[in-house]
Order: sequence, then structure tokens, then C-alpha cells
Amino acid sequence: MERKVLKLQGLNIDSFTFDQAIEYANNISGQVVTINPEMIDNAVKNPDFAEIINNAELVIPDGIGVELGLRILGYNVKRIAGIEFSHKMIEECAKSNQSVALIGAKPEIVEKAKENLMKEFLSLYITYIHDGYFKDDEKVLEELKIRQPRLVLCALGSPKQEEFILKAKSILTNALFIGVGGSFDVWSGEVKRAPEIYQKLGLEWLYRTVMDPKRFKRIFPTLPLFVLKVLKERFIPKGV
Ligand code: UDP
Repeated sequence: MERKVLKLQGLNIDSFTFDQAIEYANNISGQVVTINPEMIDNAVKNPDFAEIINNAELVIPDGIGVELGLRILGYNVKRIAGIEFSHKMIEECAKSNQSVALIGAKPEIVEKAKENLMKEFLSLYITYIHDGYFKDDEKVLEELKIRQPRLVLCALGSPKQEEFILKAKSILTNALFIGVGGSFDVWSGEVKRAPEIYQKLGLEWLYRTVMDPKRFKRIFPTLPLFVLKVLKERFIPKGV
């Protein structure tokens, strides 16, 4: 299967459906970025981060903001929730007896996430876990190299997880790495996802902000500014 990459604010985004993205990911190694408007905003300001995204092996549109941005540019691509994509990839590994590593979040959170995932997928091998508050990348990379997991989920927040994966993918050349943000907090049971109706309506961000008002700072003004910038990309020629 070939990638059909779209450009949004100069960044690569894949246009796969959920099932196509899983099939594609099953056959590659390297870096999966689950991109959202905050990351796009960061990449527009920071060329090194943009380069990481544009050199990633797969970039999935995580959330309604990116779906909306693509729609403004005339592309009809459905969002793929990073947490669902990663969960499905874990299931794929469990089915094919391939091992998984979890890196990120607080020690008790990553431990609990591992426990819950192993209860859910009885044939799952989680061969390595580490919390996300380490200083010495090299030590974690050495340990990973010994375990050689197929799937490495990194929940370090962005851009830390993308920067760590960039280093790691040149060392573990057969592994697939996904930056999964706050997913371990959900899998541990510590944080609840929004009820399905919010997810379906693309309003998970609203639910999360109401539940945790500190997040308001993160989405405002980033989200409305993002929409304005994409409108400019669509309707105003470059250089004007
Ligand atoms: N985190 C981490 N190390 C850090 C900073 C954050 O492991 O140095 C973890 C944090 O505990 C949380 C995850 O990164 O589990 C991502 O948090 P965030 O709320 O930023 O996720 P997002 O909103 O991007 O999904």
C-alpha cells in the first residue's frame, strides 16, 4: 500500500482510513506521529519539529481540529484517534505474538496501564516498561535495544515523545514507534475518555476542557488561530 500524503501548513498528513492505516503500520517500522493542531502550531514555529513530522513514516490526523483543517483545504479525510489506533496496534501485536514496550507517564500509571492491557489481551507480551520522567535517554535506549520490541508506545507529551522517537528509530530499526500523548493515563483508569457521544460529535476536546479547565490555556487561542491560518492557506495566495 502506498502513502497518499496531504499537506497542511507545510506538514505531511496521511489520508488513510483507520483500517488502511493499521494495515500500513503493520508492514512498516519507524515513527508514527498522531498530529493535532497544537503540534501543527509548534511545527510552524519550529523547523526542527516540522522536520521530524515530515520525516515520520506515518502521520495520522488525531482529532477534529486536523480533520477540519483538511476539510477547509478541500480534503475529505476522517480523523483517527491516536488512542484507538494505538490500542488496535497493541491488539495486532497480541494476535501475532509480537512484543510491546510502554514508555511514559508516571511510574504507577505505566505499571497500571500494563496490568490492564495484559488483562484485556491475554496473549500480549509487554517486555519493557519505563516511566516518562527519565533524564538519560541513552540508558532507556540501551534497555530497549536488548528487548527489541516490535511496538513501542511513547507517552511523554509532545514534542518530547517525537524527539525521543527520532533518536530511538535509528537504533531499533525494526520497531514501530507511536507517540501516544495521554493514552497511558486512560488505559490505567486514571483518566476517563469523553462519553461516546462527545467522541462521535468531535467534541472530546470540549469535554476534556470542561473536566480539566487548565487545558483551556492549551487550546485557546491555538485552536481558533489554527483555523484562521488554514483559511488563509486556502484562500490567500502565498506571499500576500
Ligand atoms: N509525561 C511524561 N514525561 C514528561 C511529561 C509528560 O511522561 O516529561 C506524560 C504525562 O504524565 C502524560 C503524558 O505524558 O501521561 C502526556 O500528557 P498530555 O496531557 O500532554 O497528553 P496529550 O494531551 O498530548 O494527549
